[in-house]
Amino acid sequence: MNFLEERILRDGIVKEGNVLKVDSFLNHQMDIALMDQMGEEFCHRFAGKKVTKVLTIEASGIAIACSVARCFGVPVVFAKKSKSINIDGDMYVAEVESFTHKNKNQVIVSKKFLSADDQVLIIDDFLANGCALQGLISIVESAGATVAGLGIAIEKGFQIGGQVIRNLGYHLESLAIVEAMNAADGTVTFRPQA
Ligand code: 5GP
Repeated sequence: MNFLEERILRDGIVKEGNVLKVDSFLNHQMDIALMDQMGEEFCHRFAGKKVTKVLTIEASGIAIACSVARCFGVPVVFAKKSKSINIDGDMYVAEVESFTHKNKNQVIVSKKFLSADDQVLIIDDFLANGCALQGLISIVESAGATVAGLGIAIEKGFQIGGQVIRNLGYHLESLAIVEAMNAADGTVTFRPQA
């Protein structure tokens, strides 16, 4: 079992509706030593890839993305969630349905910060149905840039996103893959990783 799986077992809380709450260390209160450990692990898993930017989505992906970006020595760009329909032409835009809030947001990235020669490592906290990642991938593609890989802290392997993204041929690395979780007794089981 790796460091993140251990932490999920210790401090994660399984909620109804297939939601894993990790707000005591990842997406409300944040354990920065853990973020750095995740950053190093992603750096190791994507070693040898050319990365010029790390792209994430606000808010919970940002801290992890910063640790990864420090390791690669590149900037972080985060997609902003915007309800505005008045988006001017200087933005790349994608529509993302939120798994936790069940609403749709436009996510935007300024054209200033992604260009065709970028090699982009996409980072996020969770992967469920894959909407957030697909939105980020479409923004990279709109810029004519290349997806160097995708790194996720916690993939819920019983939801479809991981399979969809891998079937599209992308290099996806998830630090913890939850195989099953049960809100009634609070148990979480992980997919074994090499
Ligand atoms: P997807 O777009 O893959 O369906 O969902 C990914 C996004 O939804 C992540 O950016 C994350 O913010 C949120 N999310 C999905 N599942 C969970 C979960 O079980 N717990 C938490 N805290 N966030 C989740």
